[in-house]
Amino acid sequence: MLPDPSTAYEALVQFLYRAPIGLAQIAPDGTVDMLNPMASSLLMPIARDTGLDNLYAVLAPIAPQLRQLASEFGEPSGVICEGLRAPLPLERTAHGSPQVLAISLMKLDSERLMAVVNDVTLEVQREQDTLVRRLRNAARTDALTRMPNREAVREQLQHLVDRPLAAAQSESNFAVLFMNCDRFRQINDTLGQAAGDELLVQIADRIRGALRPPSDRIETINGTGQLAARVGGDEFVVVLDGMRSREDAERVAGRILDALARPYRVQGHEVVCGTSLGLAWGADVAQGAARDADEILRDAGIAMVEAKRAGGARHLVFETAMRERAERRADIEAELRQALAEEQLFVVYQPVVGLLPDGGTDYAAGVEALVRWRHPVRGIVPPIEFITVAEECGLIGAVGDFVLERSCRDFMDWQARLGEAAPRLIAVNLSRAQLGQPGWIDSVRRVLQVTGMPADQLQLEVTESLAAQDQGIAQRLHELKALGIQLALDDFGTGYSSLSSLHLLPVDTVKIDRSFVSQADTSHHHRVLIEATVKVAQSLGMKTVAEGIETESQAAVVRAESCAKGQGYFYSRPLVSSDLLAWLASHEALAA
Ligand code: C2E
Ligand code: MG
Ligand code: MG
Repeated sequence: MLPDPSTAYEALVQFLYRAPIGLAQIAPDGTVDMLNPMASSLLMPIARDTGLDNLYAVLAPIAPQLRQLASEFGEPSGVICEGLRAPLPLERTAHGSPQVLAISLMKLDSERLMAVVNDVTLEVQREQDTLVRRLRNAARTDALTRMPNREAVREQLQHLVDRPLAAAQSESNFAVLFMNCDRFRQINDTLGQAAGDELLVQIADRIRGALRPPSDRIETINGTGQLAARVGGDEFVVVLDGMRSREDAERVAGRILDALARPYRVQGHEVVCGTSLGLAWGADVAQGAARDADEILRDAGIAMVEAKRAGGARHLVFETAMRERAERRADIEAELRQALAEEQLFVVYQPVVGLLPDGGTDYAAGVEALVRWRHPVRGIVPPIEFITVAEECGLIGAVGDFVLERSCRDFMDWQARLGEAAPRLIAVNLSRAQLGQPGWIDSVRRVLQVTGMPADQLQLEVTESLAAQDQGIAQRLHELKALGIQLALDDFGTGYSSLSSLHLLPVDTVKIDRSFVSQADTSHHHRVLIEATVKVAQSLGMKTVAEGIETESQAAVVRAESCAKGQGYFYSRPLVSSDLLAWLASHEALAA
């Protein structure tokens, strides 16, 4: 049965009258004909001065355009404006807190208009919150990889640290994985920054892929217990929560490293780049007092540096002893900067003698330059204690340049003083970081030029592991050869390359490591290795030097194996320039 139309109309009017939205029927000039209670309650605070007689007058302070909009509306009926946002001046709001009204205006016919007024304060608030959250996320997102950034990691990590003890003590724990690409700088330098960026994006994708999805949103740590972030140039961090054991976390670390070790395809080049990873375990963290997110990130970073020092492409778990070592390295770094500024570094020279086939010894065959540090407190510091630190902190360029220039100057000085009797070759050690530096070849050229050093009397020594590295390094070595400089492979036998790959390296001389020479006279095995090395080197037209000869019988063995040159305490320890001249003079006299 249909309701009686008059009753239905009555019901509708009743409903509109009580509706929780403000309704006002007005005349074209704004005169209010009808107003429901909600409309008057919403409008009252702004109508204090005007009264509620004319809607346009009431709304003028917050929506002054309304009257004009209505007068310009030419249609017989329709929507004049919809949801016009009108914030109330603070002193006019109901509760003294920001309030926003939304106003819609409809033309019913030529005589009547209907206004709808709504309080949209909460809605506006929600919109603003969303906007703020978006902006905050943008500030916490790395633009290149779309991963969360360091700020985001710190925040999440702090939540984990601050978590009530009960939760921390339960079966689940968290781990922080700090990763750094082993050769990123080199790749960036050789292939360019765009390629570097592309590689970083691929690395980020592989890290995500190696984790359970999804791991790219800041909120995810609560949902899936993991967070992957980029925290610096080529530094990435993964936070794993809900781990039952450290071994589980190490397994995830291994999985990520495997994924990152596969070759990359970057701008048409195949790139291989190992990653070093440091792991800080939450339970270990909980035992130390007063820990915070920054400290945990720092610890994981320290373990990463140790992984890199151990050869890279591996993971290491943080231990407190690592922190002490890192602090010591930082001390050395600061002191080394001072040492360079105050010229505490100097060079000593160890004679390299020729082992002549007739049994004689050529004392002026050459010398090897070895750097030393005269430390104001610790006395003379050997290179193993500061060369790696210099490499890590970028000081190796300055150290290397100093050694090269000093050596060349001293060499030229000997030529001037001794003429024929001066050493004929000077060997200078190179570190990997030097070869990687852009523009370094130019600085070698400059040193040759300013010192007058003949290139063919300079020998640069690289270690096996370095020479075997990659295309970029091989390229640099060829550039050095093109300058006429000789190259030697240092510490042969301790590194990666084997006799079978010797022919791939652009070197003139192979230096057989002390560890073989020191057992030459006692171990048949080592003697055979020396013999084989000399034979292969000879067949490739390379010379051999036996390093670390300490006894007469070791000297006899390497001579019997036709090693061309020898070096070691048996002949002389490394000497300062003036002592070297005296040493040469005394042996010259001896030979004569
Ligand atoms: P290396 O190039 O293999 O130098 C030979 C090292 O063996 C020197 O140690 C030398 O003093 C030592 N040695 C020589 N004969 C004997 C011996 O008969 N017995 C023993 N036990 N040792 C002997 P040093 O001067 O401590 O240098 C160690 C390493 O540090 C060098 O090994 C080289 O790799 C590096 N190094 C030294 N100077 C420089 C430098 O100016 N730049 C770079 N990048 N590395 C350097
Ligand atoms: Mg050397
Ligand atoms: Mg050596």
